[in-house]
Amino acid sequence: MRLYDTLARELQELRPLDGTTFRFYCCGPTVYGPAHIGNFRTFVLQDVFRRALETGGMRTFHVRNITDVDDKTIRDSQAAGKSLKDFTTFWTEKFHADCDALGLLPPHVEPGAIEHIPQQIAMIGTLLEKGHAYASDDGSVYFNIASFPGYGKLSRLDQRELELGKTQNARANSDEYEKDSLSDFVLWKARKPEDGENFWPSPWGEGRPGWHLECSAMIQEYLGADFDLHSGGVDLVFPHHENEIAQSQCACGGHFAAHWFHITHLLVDGGKMSKSLGNLYTLEDLAARGFSAMDVRYVLIGAHYRKPLNFTLESLAAAREAMSKLAKGARSLAAKAPAETRFDAVDFGPFQAAWDSLNDDLNTPGCLGGLFTGLREAAKLEGEEAARALAAFNRVLRALGLTLPEEEPEAEVPAEIRALAEERWAARNAKDWAKADTMRQQLTELGWNMKDGKEGYELSQS
Ligand code: AMP
Ligand code: ZN
Repeated sequence: MRLYDTLARELQELRPLDGTTFRFYCCGPTVYGPAHIGNFRTFVLQDVFRRALETGGMRTFHVRNITDVDDKTIRDSQAAGKSLKDFTTFWTEKFHADCDALGLLPPHVEPGAIEHIPQQIAMIGTLLEKGHAYASDDGSVYFNIASFPGYGKLSRLDQRELELGKTQNARANSDEYEKDSLSDFVLWKARKPEDGENFWPSPWGEGRPGWHLECSAMIQEYLGADFDLHSGGVDLVFPHHENEIAQSQCACGGHFAAHWFHITHLLVDGGKMSKSLGNLYTLEDLAARGFSAMDVRYVLIGAHYRKPLNFTLESLAAAREAMSKLAKGARSLAAKAPAETRFDAVDFGPFQAAWDSLNDDLNTPGCLGGLFTGLREAAKLEGEEAARALAAFNRVLRALGLTLPEEEPEAEVPAEIRALAEERWAARNAKDWAKADTMRQQLTELGWNMKDGKEGYELSQS
């Protein structure tokens, strides 16, 4: 597979460093509320990425963390009057349920930050020893960005610096600071009264780790100093990922991630999602409007990950229709395939273009388009050929993580049609064949077919 690398700024062929398993890390959710569909754009694309590698025969090792201690989780757990553990466990479980509904493969390892405080403290110790960090008077520890010449490579800070004319003498203590401010960032935050019970002992006094450090420490634990790829939403490029590179390269000495994969943000109504604008959607919000998680997944993969995706409710209805067309195409292929022939797809046949799109910079809209053209091409196939094509179709579908509706959703039958049908059914049961025939004709003229069965009838649109 070829993928655009944020650091190299070009498409690069992906090959596992160890020759067998592609090892990658995704920054996980901050569990202080339900994840929104913007978060899920990122997680779904990462899932398609993994599925595509696996479908292509590669082994993967996927690590995604849970951010269960930071400014926001502490603030909101206290507002809710719950312990940080109870509060974040609740939202982690909700996140997992949403992931299941969306068909996301669970990561191979899903470490939480609270469980890895000793590793984070050890990393700070190393950074202090090597002269990349310093303790401040209040008991906090900061990373000295001037000590790391590579700082800013990922986000091209050198260029932005010149444009912004900023200087390097600031210091940031909050987990998320202004995108354009260049400053030393916090590794260990000294205990403050507003942290309540959420503090841990350390050689620098009581406190808690900074957010950026958590990923670096867990990556070192589960992936080591060198691994294949690191991913997140585009908002994480700076400062989060820039800071991770600085911490990890300085503490561990390796190259850190060989590739960087960033997903562009989902927009709603052309702008940022926000609670105050009332356009921040969760899966639950959309389920209340009658849309399934699979409808959402289809919309999220409907745009290329490097392009902004503008979410609308109409796009969900269109997604449902598109999936029902795909399901219909697959069913008619299945009907022509002899039941005893079940093929593992050896080649992609009519779905080669769909598969190639996925491997060309994870072009998911191209892949979906390829499924439709593939089905049109496959419609002329019979017997064993149809069975082969169906296997290939299903293989691409699995790579996209889509589950299609089993049966065509029943068409809404207008009340007057239903009334006519009922009248005809009564006439038929009364053996008034002439009336039943005339009424069948009447229904046909109105565009409805009535199929009689033993127990009842079925209506379908002609
Ligand atoms: P958070 O829970 O805020 O730590 O974010 C989890 C993931 O969602 C990160 O990779 C973010 O970059 C990503 N993310 C946040 N907002 C959006 C959005 N609107 N579109 C796509 N990804 C997003
Ligand atoms: Zn991270």
